[in-house]
Amino acid sequence: MPSYQDLIIDKAFIGGQWCSAERSFAVTDPANGETLAHVPELSADQVRDAVAAADAAWHPWKRKTAKERSALLRAWFNAIMANQQALAELMTREQGKPLAEAIGEVAYGAAFVEYYAEEAKRMAGETLPGHGADKRILVFREPVGVVAAITPWNFPLAMITRKCAPALAAGCTVVIKPAEATPLTALALARLAEEVGIPAGVINVVTSSSPREVGPVLTGDARVRKVSFTGSTGVGKILLAQCADTVKKASMELGGNAPFIVFDDADLDAAVEGAVASKYRNSGQTCVCTNRLLVQDGVYDAFVEKLARRVAELKVGNGLEPGVLQGPLINAAAVDKVKTHIADAVDKGAQIVCGGKPHQLGGTFFEPTVLRDVTPEMRVAREETFGPLAPVFRFHSDDEAIAMANDTEFGLAAYFYARDYRRIWHTMEALEYGMVAVNEGILSTELAPFGGVKESGLGREGSSHGMDEYTELKYACVGGL
Ligand code: ADP
Repeated sequence: MPSYQDLIIDKAFIGGQWCSAERSFAVTDPANGETLAHVPELSADQVRDAVAAADAAWHPWKRKTAKERSALLRAWFNAIMANQQALAELMTREQGKPLAEAIGEVAYGAAFVEYYAEEAKRMAGETLPGHGADKRILVFREPVGVVAAITPWNFPLAMITRKCAPALAAGCTVVIKPAEATPLTALALARLAEEVGIPAGVINVVTSSSPREVGPVLTGDARVRKVSFTGSTGVGKILLAQCADTVKKASMELGGNAPFIVFDDADLDAAVEGAVASKYRNSGQTCVCTNRLLVQDGVYDAFVEKLARRVAELKVGNGLEPGVLQGPLINAAAVDKVKTHIADAVDKGAQIVCGGKPHQLGGTFFEPTVLRDVTPEMRVAREETFGPLAPVFRFHSDDEAIAMANDTEFGLAAYFYARDYRRIWHTMEALEYGMVAVNEGILSTELAPFGGVKESGLGREGSSHGMDEYTELKYACVGGL
């Protein structure tokens, strides 16, 4: 059995070479502050080398048959799953999530590689009726070219495979810029790709703790034809603006402000389970985590009581310890944001039902918190907390719930619990969100198109639609027949 230590690599990966740099930066375990490794602080020239390597590898990769690319992706999938435990332990160490969640993320992330290994073989074009008797119309689907994938720390593995698998399947090559907090999982993935024979330059990983310097190198390079980003809305807007100069395609998976509506006919126990799954997964640090619980007047008190009882049971601690369901937050700034949101809400009249303060374990551990009597004037109504805080708002009518749910510039995921079928259909259609979960607390799967509307993003990841992000259509008019 491979151990997580076998997967710790302290070098960047450029054109099939493992590279150092003059400087390096530390990767630490948020549960205890221990240093796991130092990885290279690449120079702008080294990042350009990675783009050059991806560019050089692009045409040979694109010319491989779809079946050859598929076989390599399948082998990568097998290697990831053979290392599931070790990758998960590494991820828990650098990111903090409970081991069971990390094991789940490896399977979830690997599933994209499996899916697009299959999908690679179905990249069909089309023939269309011509506009003259002597003409034929052909439509080819071609790979976009070199892709820059800029990924966040909250899903160190799955956010990479969700971009790279469809990109590689389509015939693109990639330069991955992982989050500075979690480069080790990215490097381990690259090592596994190398071991199964994915050619040099097809996957490159550039490490840096200065994303503001590396970002423009990638977005400013005309050889990069596509930027795929997952992260905060603020950074997404910067990247989109930078992409304008060279008119790059862009996919953006940005922030959310997910509502979780509980109607008075809901199965309350199921709604509580769904709320806990959706709110407290990864200690609330996912872009589809519930940010606002909207609960109907008639079941408000009962729901709050059941939720608080359940939340008080969530064990907080180092994600490697058995039974832990809440790991540390990623850093001190994340703790400050949760504290600020709680203080603001309490100041404006909300009540703490459970939790409410940093955990006695110290560091960045925080007590899972439930707030009641929360109103739209409070900051939690508008801003993504990205932490273990469940603010419970009250509503009276269906229309009011939908208006509150849609009253945000974001539109990523929304959740609701109800039984009446007309209410279910009406609400499902009225929510201005890219994804709606009905009587469900978790909706991510490689089988469905993940993505948001409004300021939550552009494009979709997963499902057959996910391939479209990495392909261009070329139309050929064949005349004179
Ligand atoms: P978070 O606030 O959750 O850390 P970010 O949007 O800051 O999310 O980070 C997501 C990814 O974007 C990370 O890989 C990070 O290094 C990168 N990033 C942050 N700022 C910039 C920037 N100005 N240009 C390019 N990439 C950036």
